[in-house]
Amino acid sequence: MNIVIFGAPGCGKGTQSERIIDKYGLHHISTGEVLRDHIARGTDNGKIADEYISRGQLIPDELMVAMLANELDADPTLLAKGVIFDGFPRTVPQAHALKKMLADRGSKVDAVVGLEVPEEELIDRLIKRGAQSGRSDDNPETIRNRLEVYNAQTLPLRDFYQGEGLYRNINGSGSIDQIAADINAAIDAATAD
Ligand code: AMP
Repeated sequence: MNIVIFGAPGCGKGTQSERIIDKYGLHHISTGEVLRDHIARGTDNGKIADEYISRGQLIPDELMVAMLANELDADPTLLAKGVIFDGFPRTVPQAHALKKMLADRGSKVDAVVGLEVPEEELIDRLIKRGAQSGRSDDNPETIRNRLEVYNAQTLPLRDFYQGEGLYRNINGSGSIDQIAADINAAIDAATAD
């Protein structure tokens, strides 16, 4: 079972991914974490990624897709067990690339969990997170850019996955436990047959 968790920056993707992993025993691939790890290790890709991330922009599709393929191929057991994709895809071309990447490896996306949270609440959460996380991109100006980029480049994916019959809309505004329960119900319904 492969799940995509989808939503704006600050919607709770990371927190809810952890819950899903605990319940369903999936592997977690967060492209944001993969990139931050490359930056911390000072790799060539990390140096390129840093330029984009600190401005709140997306890493170019081609590079991001290649880095994700590396992650998948580094451990052949990942897809056998199932993966939760957190932060990928973020553009329609990435969604097509994911579909092909999984098909080439005999797999597919089973459900897309979309966490929907009003924009004012997202900004509030990201500013609070920035005070604690020390993440270079959780500052007011970069947050604004990231939300603009999300609306322009990532939100169209909702239509794409609705068209594929995979999209499950979740209200991402309640308590962490309530949202987790709604996600579990959506995943169970999506994978029942
Ligand atoms: P995240 O931890 O998911 O919020 O990602 C942090 C930053 O990493 C994003 O604001 C982007 O700059 C970059 N990033 C993460 N995933 C992707 C992706 N799938 N495509 C392009 N850029 C990404």
